[in-house]
Amino acid sequence: MRILLLGPPGGGKGTQSKFLMEKFNIPQISTGDMLRAHVKKNTELGKKAKEFMNKGELVTDSLILDMMEVRFKDNDCKNGYILDGFPRTFPQSEFLLTFLEQNKLSLDIIFDFKIDFRIVQERIMERSKLQKRSDDSIDVIKVRLDKYIQETYPVSQVFGSKFADKYKVIDASKQILEIQKELMKILKKVEN
Ligand code: AMP
Repeated sequence: MRILLLGPPGGGKGTQSKFLMEKFNIPQISTGDMLRAHVKKNTELGKKAKEFMNKGELVTDSLILDMMEVRFKDNDCKNGYILDGFPRTFPQSEFLLTFLEQNKLSLDIIFDFKIDFRIVQERIMERSKLQKRSDDSIDVIKVRLDKYIQETYPVSQVFGSKFADKYKVIDASKQILEIQKELMKILKKVEN
């Protein structure tokens, strides 16, 4: 099962990824988590990525694509994955589509999480009290949402038209359990 999750930061993609990961026994590929791990380990990539992340800006495509090229080769990707936070730009979506085509693979479902940005801001501020993320401050959130509107939302539109039959809009303002149920209902149909 290859699942793509689209939607703004703070829209609940990470939470639903964890749920889907257990249900389908496939890894969550979160470029944000991968980058944070690099920052923590202070790798060369981590040092470069940190500057962008702290400002809420997108890390350069070449860094992301090099990282994903390696990640897709991992053994645990054989039976599928949940893409969470990737692709976020046109070059990243081109990379993904080419990679899938070259490997004769396709996406099974695309969930686009839609949510009011005011709710997103509130959620991210709540999260910042629980997890210490350096990019969860109000000013940085505004930049992250701007980047989403400018760079990532247009990518969602492309997926929406290219994969019209597999593209499902999810109301991400609902409760976590309600969203889980909705995702499962759709995925059951995909499996059959
Ligand atoms: P996230 O946890 O997905 O919200 O990502 C946190 C931060 O990591 C983002 O604000 C970006 O700075 C960076 N990041 C994560 N994924 C990507 C990506 N696919 N392309 C560019 N930057 C990314």
